[in-house]
Amino acid sequence: MKLVFATNNLNKIKEVQLLIPEHIQLLSLKDIGCFEDVPETQLTIEGNAIQKAKYIKENYGYDCFADDTGLEVESLKGEPGVFSARYAGEQRDANNNMDLLLKNLDGNFNRNAQFKTVIALHLNNNLDTFTGICEGEITITKQGEKGFGYDPIFKANGYDKTFAEISLEEKNKIGHRGKAVRMLVNYLNT
Ligand code: IMP
Repeated sequence: MKLVFATNNLNKIKEVQLLIPEHIQLLSLKDIGCFEDVPETQLTIEGNAIQKAKYIKENYGYDCFADDTGLEVESLKGEPGVFSARYAGEQRDANNNMDLLLKNLDGNFNRNAQFKTVIALHLNNNLDTFTGICEGEITITKQGEKGFGYDPIFKANGYDKTFAEISLEEKNKIGHRGKAVRMLVNYLNT
């Protein structure tokens, strides 16, 4: 079975590939000749995931799944949330995004936060969503070189290392995307 994962983010593809059974061959947007920016203009994480999956099905004809992820910080009323990618501006720079978040949390004792991933699956004209959440906290400084995005400033509950200091396998075990992908795989297997 071939299934398009509507992303060109190689980090996401690497993470998800580890969890997908061998009989499902993942195709990226590049693999299907999609080189445009897929629109994600909705005001919710779920809305963006659905928008991306529908866009690929309608414009390229492939069954596919798309994920959208946001980092929700309790004391910032859920920000940056759906605006996580562009938190510090249109250039979508991970370092600038982290710096701004650390600045906005400066002196704040409540550093609770959660990553939320919604996967939207467009398969045989049905649309389903799967949500994975990972609770934790925002660190005071950036730590670690692995991962991507906000990984260097997020520690999952019960961990004393950030997502950028643990292996991909470990991140997948406890992380938001891993949880959502396992739900997706269960669904595909039934
Ligand atoms: P999107 O799902 O690609 O739109 O991601 C939204 C924002 O969250 C971007 O800034 C990503 O870098 C960041 N992001 C998405 N997934 C993760 C993750 O697993 N760890 C850290 N940051 C992430």
